[in-house]
Amino acid sequence: MSDCLFCKIVAGEIPADIVHQDDQVVVFRDINPKAKVHLLVIPRIHVTGLNGINSEHDALMAHMLRLLPELAAREGLETGFRTIINTGKGGGQEVFHLHIHLLGGDDLPGF
Ligand code: AMP
Repeated sequence: MSDCLFCKIVAGEIPADIVHQDDQVVVFRDINPKAKVHLLVIPRIHVTGLNGINSEHDALMAHMLRLLPELAAREGLETGFRTIINTGKGGGQEVFHLHIHLLGGDDLPGF
C-alpha cells in the first residue's frame, strides 16, 4: 500500500535499523523503544493487522512466531522476552500494517 509507513520500510523508501530480513518478513528496531530491546517483526506483504489475516496467512504467521525466540536469542534475551500485537484502534494499534513487538533486555514489569 503506497501510503503505509511499514510498506515504505519494506520497500527501502524510509530508513530503518533492520536486524533481520528474509523472503517473508522484515525486522527492525522500534524508533521509540519501550525497553532496552524493542524490535518490530512485520510481513513484507501488506496485512492491516490480526483482523486482516485468514487461512492464506497461516504459513506467514507460523514463520513470524517461530522467528521470535531466534531473534530474542540473537539479542541476548536469555531470561525471556515479551511479545505484543496491538489490534485495531481500540487495541492501541497506530500503524495499520501487522507487526509483532518483541521487547526485553531488562526485567519487564508484570502485565
Ligand atoms: P502500534 O502502536 O502497535 O501500532 O506500534 C507502532 C510502533 O511503530 C510504535 O511502537 C512506534 O514507535 C513504531 N514506529 C513508528 N514509526 C516507526 C519508524 N519509522 N521506524 C521504527 N518504528 C516506528
